[in-house]
Amino acid sequence: EELKNAAIEFADQFTPIAWKTEDLSRALNTDPVFSNIKKNHSFSGISTDSRTIAQTHIFLALKGETFDGHIFIKRLIDQGIKGFITQKGFFDTLDQNTRKKIFQSSLIIFETRNTLTGLGLLARYQRLRSNVKLIAITGSSGKTTTRKITQEIFKTQYHTHATTGNFNNEIGLPLTLLNLSHAHEWAIVEMGMNHPGEISRLSRIALPDIAVVTNTAGVHLEGLGSVENVATAKAEIFEGIRKNATAILFADDPRRCILEAKARENNAIKTVLFFGSGYDADFQSADIKTLAGSTQFTAKFNDQKIACSINSPALFMVDNCLAAICAASIAGICREGIKKGLRAFTPVSGRMNIFRLSDSIHMIDDTYNANPASVTQAINTLQRVSAGKNSIAVLGDMLELGTKSDRLHRQIGLKIALSGISKLFVFGDQAKHMIDGAVENGFSEDNIFHGSKDEIARKILEQSDRETWILVKGSRGMAMETIIQKLQTLL
Ligand code: ATP
Ligand code: MG
Repeated sequence: EELKNAAIEFADQFTPIAWKTEDLSRALNTDPVFSNIKKNHSFSGISTDSRTIAQTHIFLALKGETFDGHIFIKRLIDQGIKGFITQKGFFDTLDQNTRKKIFQSSLIIFETRNTLTGLGLLARYQRLRSNVKLIAITGSSGKTTTRKITQEIFKTQYHTHATTGNFNNEIGLPLTLLNLSHAHEWAIVEMGMNHPGEISRLSRIALPDIAVVTNTAGVHLEGLGSVENVATAKAEIFEGIRKNATAILFADDPRRCILEAKARENNAIKTVLFFGSGYDADFQSADIKTLAGSTQFTAKFNDQKIACSINSPALFMVDNCLAAICAASIAGICREGIKKGLRAFTPVSGRMNIFRLSDSIHMIDDTYNANPASVTQAINTLQRVSAGKNSIAVLGDMLELGTKSDRLHRQIGLKIALSGISKLFVFGDQAKHMIDGAVENGFSEDNIFHGSKDEIARKILEQSDRETWILVKGSRGMAMETIIQKLQTLL
């Protein structure tokens, strides 16, 4: 019984900080347009989803191109929800009946010019009063992986709150911060983007103490034009940074100068640290060994050397680990904590997952997503783990690459030709450019197959009578995992 009570108390510590009406006024910087509620009433949380809202939550109505949370408000009033945050002018649009109902119940309503901005203000308020230290992670790839590794390491020593899933945009990030409690010591959040300005807004909400940019690459070029613009947009992560902050940057990033300059010109940033393989990196990797299901390496920093192991054969994991180790060392986490955290990490499904599909087939499932940098990395991994055995790269289109798409797919073909991989199977509209790039650079057409997912699955079976390593990868929209599922049913 005592243990149980202790467990409950422990769990309670981490319940999000509640909202008094005055907290809401202060955070939103406005008085309610209507209040008929006790002054000391307290809401246990803020919800934007009418389907999952708790009875003690306040409802914030978001309005997007295809949805409008305001249409649920009448029903939520009937359901007994007592607090609402709406767009300006909403109260005046209500019919007589509803207004009468509102006047008769104990309710509070706030209006803001833009509820999405309001959500950010509430999240910022929660972040500040929780008093956590915060790590923000952005980058073209490796955000989720680096966040997970960092979280595992920090968990060994601190009460840590972190992004779950892919909650890294202008809705997901605030919702993540709203779950902060007084008991949390560190928060680790991801920041994603499609357009310039987004990371800036996220940074001004989250107020990072440590900002990590994992790398920059030609992802989402459609919205940004050039890879230099991608780097500049990632550097917006410094715009909301707190005093005496640290920037953690990738030493081997071709755009590192852009990021470093932005970090150095920011007065709030006290320290800029680099991780990577470069000789001038503060956090360096050495003695990298790729094994079938793991990678071993030595992390070198200050005067320390730590022997590390991570549950993934992917070479890029080393850089993600170094970024996490760098943040951990700033937070004073000991080497045992770092080692233990790295050991506890497990890769997310569809991201460089290696397993045996049959006696002869080893599968590298990296179907979660793809861009030029991550496909290049994945081909490197295939080459390393297959070590001269039969190897097949099964590649789907990389989407959202704008006008450079043809050329970038051609370059993947070139990469295949140079890599020593036995066969290239392709799927999608851009496949022809990958084929051209491979053939132009001497890859035999006999080793290329272009077909439907069904045809590819059958072809794989036909060609894997001996030990074979297979990489399957493509953009999310290509759903390349269905090829693996087909294979599983055929076996
Ligand atoms: P998304 O924006 O799609 O959520 P993300 O930034 O969260 O992606 P992860 O989910 O960590 O990235 O990794 C996705 C893929 O990117 C991995 O499977 C791998 O192929 C590649 N990747 C991860 N880290 C790196 C890295 N440091 N360098 C290059 N490629 C990487
Ligand atoms: Mg992610």
